[in-house]
Amino acid sequence: MVDPAKIAKILDRLHKLGSIRRAPEVHDLPGEFDGWFDGGAFRSVTGATHYVFADGSAANVGVVPWLSVSIRLADGTEVSVLERQRQAAAQVCAGCGGQLDPTLTHQVIKGKPFHIGCAP
Ligand SMILES: [Zn+2]
Repeated sequence: MVDPAKIAKILDRLHKLGSIRRAPEVHDLPGEFDGWFDGGAFRSVTGATHYVFADGSAANVGVVPWLSVSIRLADGTEVSVLERQRQAAAQVCAGCGGQLDPTLTHQVIKGKPFHIGCAP
């Protein structure tokens, strides 16, 4: 089993990146990154940021539609920290009764969710 302290350490580092450099300095990690900080670097794509740390660990942080943090330690151990998908289970279109994907656009009328096009 992975030592939870190792995961806590990664989360703590993500929380305290310190100052961000937009161009690498001599001691920074080589590679295509959007920013560098002491001990690592990151690259951003839509909805997620990929962090690489100098000790060989990495983390992918997504915030759309829920927080998800995928951590890979230097020894290859992978751990995910996921926000529970609170609304996903019971979201049904009030028009057609079909499943609503909360990550896709829908509309709410008088408190009831509808697919676009199913609303009265
Ligand atoms: Zn519908």
